[in-house]
Amino acid sequence: MNPFSLHGKTALVTGANTGIGQAIAVSLSNAGAQVLCAARRDCDETLSMIEGGRHVALDFTDPMAATGLFEAEKIDILINNAGIIRRADSVDFSEADWDDVMDVNLKAVFFTCQAFGKAVMARQGEGAIVNIASLLSFQGGIRVPSYTAAKHGVAGITKILANEWAARRVNVNAIAPGYIATNNTQALRDDPVRNKAILERIPAGRWGEASDIGETAVFLCSPAAKYIHGAILNVDGGWLAR
Ligand code: NDP
Repeated sequence: MNPFSLHGKTALVTGANTGIGQAIAVSLSNAGAQVLCAARRDCDETLSMIEGGRHVALDFTDPMAATGLFEAEKIDILINNAGIIRRADSVDFSEADWDDVMDVNLKAVFFTCQAFGKAVMARQGEGAIVNIASLLSFQGGIRVPSYTAAKHGVAGITKILANEWAARRVNVNAIAPGYIATNNTQALRDDPVRNKAILERIPAGRWGEASDIGETAVFLCSPAAKYIHGAILNVDGGWLAR
């Protein structure tokens, strides 16, 4: 048996129409999983890159949006990737920006995990959750207070659920990406001064590719990672090792 195969598994990937979520959908599909691609907008581009995928319309401005999903069909893998960021100095940060980020990046992550976990346990199956955390699950950052708070929270959710659910055959882990080349980070790469500073700070000397996160997600969802619970895996070119 190939310990990295996901054949026979169905995966839900949130935020699958672009960036890291798209790469995760492609990697999971290449490993043999059927992939449900969730986002507010269509996922046509991602669906054109994989076989047998489907789009699921989900809007986490309602953090409970996904809770009904897991009763309707058997889903074995949950990737909580959808995320937003709002930037402003902490002294000026608005309540609206705080709530928007918390709803999508933290509250939706917890309640989607909860609904998935309940469904897996009800059918006495096995399940794997991978939450997408961040360097800002460990560091402060600047001008992103709600994002930093939410991503620290994602690390916490990952640990408590891993602790509670390891004995129930649900693996809960997270990936903490470093600087990954997506649309989200295009402005940083376009600014020569900031781009140079970032590259000098990354021991590996390059931006991460979204596929670096996709392949790590395959590993964490695969039989090879069955004994891994509550890990927050840094995929950051060595950023946090410095
Ligand atoms: P993108 O901005 O490229 O993609 C974000 C995704 O989230 C989109 O698919 C978007 O789809 C979806 N999304 C946003 N809001 C909602 C919502 N309300 N409901 C449902 N889906 C939503 O981001 P990245 O690919 O760069 O990042 C993906 C994840 O990785 C995020 O959690 C981010 O915090 C994290 N991360 C990224 C890093 C990087 O360097 N790029 C570094 C560390 C962490 P749509 O708008 O159609 O809904």
